[in-house]
Amino acid sequence: MSVTHENSGTGPVIVWLRNDLRVSDNASLALAVDSKRPVIPVFVYSPDEEGAWSPGAASRWWLHHSLLSLSATLNELGSKLILRTGPAARELSAVAAEFGATALIYSRRWEPAAIHQQRMVESELIANRIDVRAVNNSLLFEPTSIATASGTPYRVFTPFYRACLSSWGETSPIAAPSRVRSPSEWPASVAVEDLRLLPRIDWADGLDETWTPGEFSAQKRLATFANGAAVSYLEQRDMPATEGVSRLSPFLHFGEISPRQVVSAVNRAALGSVSSSSHEGYIRQLIWREFAHHLLYHYPHTVDQPLRSEFADFPWDNDPEMKTAWCQGRTGYPLVDAGMRELWRTGYMHNRVRMVVASFLVKDLLIPWQEGAKWFWDTLVDADLANNTLGWQWVAGCGADAAPYFRIFNPVSQSEKFDPTSSYIRHWVPELAELSASVIHEPWRFPLLATSTDYPDRIVEHDYARARALESLELMKAHSLAKP
Ligand SMILES: Cc1cc2nc3c(=O)[nH]c(=O)nc-3n(C[C@H](O)[C@H](O)[C@H](O)COP(=O)(O)OP(=O)(O)OC[C@H]3O[C@@H](n4cnc5c(N)ncnc54)[C@H](O)[C@@H]3O)c2cc1C
Repeated sequence: MSVTHENSGTGPVIVWLRNDLRVSDNASLALAVDSKRPVIPVFVYSPDEEGAWSPGAASRWWLHHSLLSLSATLNELGSKLILRTGPAARELSAVAAEFGATALIYSRRWEPAAIHQQRMVESELIANRIDVRAVNNSLLFEPTSIATASGTPYRVFTPFYRACLSSWGETSPIAAPSRVRSPSEWPASVAVEDLRLLPRIDWADGLDETWTPGEFSAQKRLATFANGAAVSYLEQRDMPATEGVSRLSPFLHFGEISPRQVVSAVNRAALGSVSSSSHEGYIRQLIWREFAHHLLYHYPHTVDQPLRSEFADFPWDNDPEMKTAWCQGRTGYPLVDAGMRELWRTGYMHNRVRMVVASFLVKDLLIPWQEGAKWFWDTLVDADLANNTLGWQWVAGCGADAAPYFRIFNPVSQSEKFDPTSSYIRHWVPELAELSASVIHEPWRFPLLATSTDYPDRIVEHDYARARALESLELMKAHSLAKP
C-alpha cells in the first residue's frame, strides 16, 4: 500500500489517531510506515467538537491511561505521540504546515459528530494540498458496506448478521511495525496530564483497581478469554457472577484492540476446541457491535430520539428522586442495586444486568431512556455512542429490532435465574450478604430480616409498576392513533 498524491513528495506523513489507540493491526500506521517517510502520530483532544456526547468521566479516565500507554509503546518504536487540543482541522493543518507534512491518514468513525469532524479535517487539509486518506480500523463491516437487496439499511439483526457472514473476507490482522521513522524535528505536544482527564474528586479508585487500559493489557485479556472462557461463552454469558464474558468492550471502544484481532484469536481457539458453537456465539455478539454502528450511521437522530417515532409521545413520569435512587443503587431490588453499584465502582456492568437495570428505569420507574443513556455515558468505561444507543432503545422497545415494550423484565425472577447462588448480589450489596439464597432476591418479603440491615425498602412494587407501564403504552398508542 502506498500514499500517493502529486504533492506527496518525501515530507512526513501524519497519522491522525482517534479511536484506534494501538500499533498492531492499525492500517493507518502500517500505511504510513510502508511509505518509508517520517511519521508524525497525532491525537487531538477536542471534546467541544463532540457536543453533548463528549467523553464522560469514566471514559476520560480511560483515555488518560490509554494515551500514556500508547505514548510509551510509540517511544519503544522510536516514535512519539503528539497531543494537541482544539478543533482537529485547525491543529492538524497547523502541524502539517509547520513540519512540511504532505499526507495524512486517519481511521473513519461513524458517530455524527465524528463524521462532521473528519469532513472538516478533509476539506481543510485538501484545500492546503495535503494528501488525505481514510481507512477502516474499527469495524469488520463498515455501515456503508452492508445493505439489503433493495439497497436500504438493515433494521433487524438476524438478516444483518447473515449478510455479514456471507460477505466475510480476509481477517488476518496486520503485525505491529518494528520501527516507526521519526521526522527530523517534532511538533510541540501537550502532556497527557495537561488534558486534565482524571476526575478531580477521589472517585476513580475502583477503576484503578479493576482495569489496566492499553494495547498490551487488551492483548493479554483477549488471550486469556480466547483460550479460556470462550469455550463456555454460550452457557456462561448471562451469569454476572462468573468470568463468562470477555470484558473487552472498553478496549474495543478505544481501539486498543481491533475486532479483527478478536475474531482471529477466537477462531484460532475454536480450531483447537471440540465444539465451536460458543466461539460462534461470541462472534455473533461482536456483530451486534457492527449492527449498532450500522444503525447509528443510518439513523443518527437516534442518539436522543426514538427510532419508532410514536414513542416521542410516551407519557413518562420522570421523577428525579426515583432516578437518584436508581443511580445510587438504592431501589430496594437487589439485582438492580448490585448492577448500579458495580457500575459506579468499576465503570462496567454485565450485559444481563444492564438489560435489567435499564428495563427497571424505563418501565418500572417510567423515566425516559435518554436519562439512563446519559448516566451510562458518564459512568461506563466502555461508553460507546452506537452500542449505548442501541442498548437503551432495545430495552425501551423504541428502536430497531427492539424487545417489544410489553416484554417487561421482572427484577426478581431475573435475579433468581441469573444469579442463582446470589454471589453477585452478596458482593455488590454487602448489607444483604448474611441473607440466605431463598430470601435475598426479595428482602421486603421478610421484614424481620430486612430491618436488621441498612437496605432500603422497594421504591415501587413491580406488579403495580408493570401494569402502569402497560397502561402508559396504551395511552401512547391512543395518542398516536388520534394524531392527524
Ligand atoms: C442499556 C444498555 C447499554 C449498553 N451500553 C453499551 C456501551 O455504552 N458500550 C458498549 O460497548 N456496550 C454497551 N452495551 C452492550 C453490552 O452490554 C456490552 O457491550 C457488554 O456487556 C460488554 O461486555 P463484554 O465485553 O464482556 O461483552 P462480551 O459478551 O464479551 O461481548 C464481546 C463484545 O461484543 C460486543 N457486544 C456484546 N454485546 C453487545 C450488545 N448487546 N450490543 C453491542 N455490542 C455488543 C461488545 O463490543 C463486547 O465487548 C449496552 C447494553 C445495554 C443493554
